[in-house]
Amino acid sequence: MHFYSTRDPNRCPVPFREALLSGLAPDGGLYLPERVPRAEAAWREAQTLAALALPVLGPWLGGELGAAQLRAVAEDALTFPVPLRALGDGVYVLELFHGPTLSFKDVGARTMARLMNAFLAGRGERVTILVATSGDTGSAVADGFAGLGNLRVVLLYPKGKVSAVQERQLVHPRPGVRALAVAGDFDDCQRLVKAAFVDPELRALGLSSANSINLGRLLPQMLYYFWAVLSLASRYGETTPPVFCVPSGNLGNLTAGVLAAEMGLGVGRFVAAHNANDFFPGYLQLLYDPSAFKRTVATLSNAMDVGAPSNFERLHALLGEGARERIWGTSVSDAATLERLRATYEAYGYVACPHTAVGLEAAARYRAASGDERLVIVLATAHPAKFVDTVEGALGVALPKVPALEALQGPDAQAPVIAPQLGALRRALLSPF
Ligand SMILES: *Cc1c(COP(=O)(O)O)cnc(C)c1O
Repeated sequence: MHFYSTRDPNRCPVPFREALLSGLAPDGGLYLPERVPRAEAAWREAQTLAALALPVLGPWLGGELGAAQLRAVAEDALTFPVPLRALGDGVYVLELFHGPTLSFKDVGARTMARLMNAFLAGRGERVTILVATSGDTGSAVADGFAGLGNLRVVLLYPKGKVSAVQERQLVHPRPGVRALAVAGDFDDCQRLVKAAFVDPELRALGLSSANSINLGRLLPQMLYYFWAVLSLASRYGETTPPVFCVPSGNLGNLTAGVLAAEMGLGVGRFVAAHNANDFFPGYLQLLYDPSAFKRTVATLSNAMDVGAPSNFERLHALLGEGARERIWGTSVSDAATLERLRATYEAYGYVACPHTAVGLEAAARYRAASGDERLVIVLATAHPAKFVDTVEGALGVALPKVPALEALQGPDAQAPVIAPQLGALRRALLSPF
């Protein structure tokens, strides 16, 4: 299997190892395979999420990692449950937030860290992972990579634009991990990461990305789409292809779903659920052309506050104009998000995080607009306790304490603040830690 850049499909195909370790192609493009492989039929027999790694990820690795190693990577990474819950009225939530940092990003980050470590082991190479985070990525990556000897992590997050809980998770001291607070917004953080990657001096550090532009994080996210379809059949006896509704920001989660479908998973339709950052729904509705990226707007579902979704380039290269047939999109305001949080609690007694609430609202709108009566699986992307102020404020109830967050209590650590300029990042990257 070879991978090429979205910017120049004719040049320099690389093996999986290189796509994984470099993250971004040298020309700034995103890696895609020469063709999407089919999943091996054995996926239908899988009894756990980790057991899906061999039939679903195996074909992408083309033998670069042995089957036993791939299984070990998945079993070490995917140690938490991913339950599918029926809310009622044909709506299900796939709870992806039972990992150590309580968001779906644990799935991709933990698997990617162990994949990288497996490829680096024994070579004496060191890699520095540089990550821009709007909240949940950073803690998932920090936790997923901490203490893996060949890897160190630098996190960039927008100062004052992540929740208190998220910030505590980000700055929590971990071996080999440094957090930097950027005086700017998430787009500034992403811009800095991209600038660092094309800077020859910084590239020489063995820079890699753990954002969802990296296939190492993106591809493992396919596993839970397969898992959801298996769970729907085994727990609820439902076998028609469901609609997947995906709370989206950088479009990594949605792109993983599209890749799963391209591998042969039966999916009825995708719904892209966005907050006020509406570039992608606007693109789907022919309101914006692909270059109409926007500034980020701050919302209650802050992990989706992305004006210029980094995976759009990949999704566009994969589907082209066909995206408009396969994906339906909508933009949900903060007011509608809170309304849906309350309605979901009242109707089903279910407490959702604000991102999941955007998804639930989008699912309801899709059904009303399309008349499609197939089952809808909304990806529940974060634990409500990560957004305790918003959720408790909206519902007027106190949420139970969550052990993973209680463990972070204590004297608050501080991250150094840097200006949103490459020079400031360069100084931080070149100083030892
Ligand atoms: C990152 C994140 C999203 C958006 O996922 P993308 O892959 O960037 O589209 C949605 N919800 C939560 C809770 C997140 O952390």
